[in-house]
Formats: sequence, C-alpha cells, structure tokens
Amino acid sequence: MEHRCFKCGNVLKSDEIALYRKLIWREAPRYLCLNCLAGDLSSTPERLQDLIDYYRYKQRCCLFVN
Ligand SMILES: [Zn+2]
Repeated sequence: MEHRCFKCGNVLKSDEIALYRKLIWREAPRYLCLNCLAGDLSSTPERLQDLIDYYRYKQRCCLFVN
C-alpha cells in the first residue's frame, strides 16, 4: 500500500515513514515526508537523512530495515 505525506502529498519512502515513527509517534497512522518533517522540526532534510543513516547503521534500529 502506498503512503503519502499528509502535508504535501508526496509518495513516502519506507525510510521517511520509519523516521517519523521513530521521532514522532511509533503508532502514527499517517506520516510526513523528509521535507515537511524537517520544516516541523526546524531541521533540514539532509540532517534527517543523516539521522536515518545513524539509526540504521549505528543503532541497527528495527524500524529501518531494507
Ligand atoms: Zn511532505
């Protein structure tokens, strides 16, 4: 099933969904793309991408699986 950002409507990648669940709400029924999430967090998409890499490779977080 295809998920879309509830702000801008972009199709979401699994990493974007995983990061949203990790940072915002584990049981979230809807998600934001990296751009919109960065705006909400006063961050940048690049920094959020770094976070995704951090969780995947350093923490081996179970949300971030390929
Ligand atoms: Zn968006």
